[in-house]
Order: sequence, then C-alpha cells, then structure tokens
Amino acid sequence: MTTSLVTGGAGFLGSHLCDRLLSEGHRVLAVDNLITGKAKNVAHLEGNDSFRLIHHDVTTHLEIDEPVDNVLHFASPASPIDYLELPIQTLKVGSLGTHNTLGLAKAKGARYLLASTSEVYGDPLVHPQPETYWGNVNPVGPRGVYDEAKRFSEAMVTAYHSAHGLDTRIVRIFNTYGPRMRPKDGRVVPAFIRQALLGEPLTVFGDGSQTRSFCYVDDLVEGIWRLLGSDVTTPVNIGNPNEMTILEFAHRIVEVTGADVEIRFLPLPVDDPKTRQPNISKARELLDWEPKVNFEEGLRRTIEFFRAMEG
Ligand code: NAD
Ligand code: UDP
Repeated sequence: MTTSLVTGGAGFLGSHLCDRLLSEGHRVLAVDNLITGKAKNVAHLEGNDSFRLIHHDVTTHLEIDEPVDNVLHFASPASPIDYLELPIQTLKVGSLGTHNTLGLAKAKGARYLLASTSEVYGDPLVHPQPETYWGNVNPVGPRGVYDEAKRFSEAMVTAYHSAHGLDTRIVRIFNTYGPRMRPKDGRVVPAFIRQALLGEPLTVFGDGSQTRSFCYVDDLVEGIWRLLGSDVTTPVNIGNPNEMTILEFAHRIVEVTGADVEIRFLPLPVDDPKTRQPNISKARELLDWEPKVNFEEGLRRTIEFFRAMEG
C-alpha cells in the first residue's frame, strides 16, 4: 500500500487532499499542529484504519516509524490575516519545516511535493503569470514573510532535487476556495460569503479594481493528484484563469446569495497585488489538466457548507 504523509493535513486544502489520497487507496498520515487548521476538518476520517492524524509542529524534527512513499508539504498559515499574525511561524514553517520534511523524504526515499503559491510572483508585472516569470516581491513588506518563505522553499526543494536526486514536485497554487475554509480566515471568498449570510456590508478593500482568479478546491486537488503522478519536477501553476475584479466578485456574491447588503470600501492593505491570473498552459500540456467546476457551481457548494455550519 502507498503511504502519503500530508503536512497541514487538518487545514482547508490538506484535508481535501487527505480525502482524495484515501479514495485513491493510499494510507494517509496527516501531520498538523492545528495552528490555523482544525481537527474537525478530518473528524469524518476518525475510525478509518488507513488514516492517522499526528499532532506535531513540522518546524521541529519529525520521526515517522513506518515507510513513507510521498511527502506533501502543505503546512503553512495561508491567509494574509493569518500570516500577518504569525510572521515568525510562517517563516519557520517555510524554511525549517521545508528542510525537515525534505530530510524525512530523503530518509524514506519518498517523492516530495511542495505546496507553493502564486505569491512567489508578488505584485506581478507580467500578466497572466507563466511559471517562467520570476516575480516582483517586496522582502520587507508585510507579505514578505509568506512570499519569501515560499520562494526559499522552492529553492530548497530544487537543491534537494539537484544535490540529492530527490524526486520532487512544486505546485504554485492560485487562490482556491471551497468548503472547510474558516469563515473568519480573512480571505475574500469566506469573508464575503459570511458577510452576505449575516446581512452585513461586504468589505471591499481599496476601490475593488484589483483582480483575482478563483479555483474550486476539487479542481485544484485533481491538478495536484496529476502532478504527483507525473514526472514534472519544475514548478507548475494550478489555478483557474477566470479573472475578475474584487468589486465584480462582491456583486456576484450578492447575486448568488440574494443578500440585501451594501458594499463598504476600506483601505487597501500594503502590497496587495493589483492583478493575478494563472497562465495554465503548462498544466494543460503536461498534465492534461484544466479546471472543470464553474464559478457559480463552486460558490453554491461553498455557500451550502457555510449555511450548514451556521445551522
Ligand atoms: P490552512 O491554514 O487551512 O492550512 C494550513 C495547515 O497547516 C493548518 O492546518 C495548520 O494548522 C498547519 N500548520 C501550519 N504551520 C504548521 C506547523 N509548523 N506544523 C504543522 N502544521 C502546521 O491553509 P490552506 O489554504 O489549506 O493552505 C494549505 C497550503 O496551501 C499552504 O502551504 C498554503 O501556502 C498553500 N496555498 C494555499 C492557497 C489557497 O488559496 N488556499 C493558495 C496558495 C497556496
Ligand atoms: N479583500 C477584500 N475584502 C476582504 C478580504 C479581501 O476586498 O474582506 C481583497 C484583498 O484586498 C485582495 C483580494 O480580496 O485584493 C483577495 O484577498 P485574499 O485575502 O483572499 O487573498 P490574496 O489573494 O490577497 O492572498
């Protein structure tokens, strides 16, 4: 049986990944210190003999007493609010955590997959962003702790690949949404859904002209699954190119929820990227992957989850 270890396995993306790996017949070890994740996200897996949740901070040495075939490193605060509140932990999990998990993969002879991010492109000057773009990141701005940790992680993974021959994959994940996001994690999709459901004004930062492109979680997990099974060792963007302004997104939330709410404009956070859209030609060509879930359908499933949470 294939054993896959998922760091951050009790988080939003990590828990969906655990579900997928289990459904593919893997044994899954989720390693998480629950700093931004929740045991509730994997509570439905309790009693499944193929699944184990290990409470551990991956910035410290990790000892696993069984064979491991894949290490998927997803542990990291991921929402801007979380990484602004946890700057040192974010830098540590992206540096020490990446080093420890690479060491584990090397010791076990496992394949390694890093969850990187579109934030490696910073506030991009090339649009849409192909993997060949090197980015425009402010190392000492508030987002630097996250962006530079991920850039360091990519460099470290690449060094383990070239120096130790480790079998590695790097996925650059663009804004992904879906069930199990924390309503108050500060990211725009849960923020607007929560506000709409509570009848509160939608908080648009700046004038709302900045753009993002939102990918539904099932599509992302499919892309990661294909990347893991491929032989592509260079970074691959996975995301949905469906780009919109944040103001347009606010209006769509109003339409889909039918909420009677106003829009409140608040100051734009420092270094907030003005545009973001993945160029997914590489994933299309090498993984035969593209997103399938349309935005209204993805939103409907996410809103359903948030409604059920409230009830
Ligand atoms: P999340 O906060 O829901 O999940 C992160 C998980 O990592 C949490 O369960 C948290 O408790 C755990 N964690 C953090 N530090 C840890 C440590 N030191 N030791 C053990 N566990 C630790 O966030 P998410 O959205 O699921 O993001 C998961 C990964 O995907 C992150 O690496 C993030 O950078 C990356 N990513 C996500 C998105 C997105 O849109 N969701 C976009 C780009 C990249
Ligand atoms: N945003 C917003 N209102 C909110 C939360 C976020 O207008 O309540 C904006 C934010 O300024 C950014 C975009 O929505 O331009 C996406 O923010 P998010 O935190 O989801 O992720 P990011 O892509 O910035 O990492």
